[in-house]
Amino acid sequence: MKCAHNQCGKEFTPRTHNMKYCSDECCRTATNEKLRDAYYEKKDRLAGKKRVCKTNGCDVLLSRYNEGKICSKCENAKRTSDRNEIIEMVRSVTGKTSKA
Ligand SMILES: [Zn+2]
Ligand SMILES: [Zn+2]
Repeated sequence: MKCAHNQCGKEFTPRTHNMKYCSDECCRTATNEKLRDAYYEKKDRLAGKKRVCKTNGCDVLLSRYNEGKICSKCENAKRTSDRNEIIEMVRSVTGKTSKA
């Protein structure tokens, strides 16, 4: 499989089923990068840097108090569609079992 560290991407044979990186070095580097990204993101947010909703076609400015990456409108829309999917799933399952 491919190393999950995007600057590496080397093919390797995992020794354990949950191995994501080709080496300890990659694991450490990738983890540090993730922490650094999270740190800067938080810093930007608290500094009041403008951030826009990550949803395609939506460029609503995010409030600095919004810890997420999408606006509350998209968040609600996503939640509704997730719920509808679950309802559909339950309906299809119960529809089958009621016949039996
Ligand atoms: Zn690697
Ligand atoms: Zn949005």
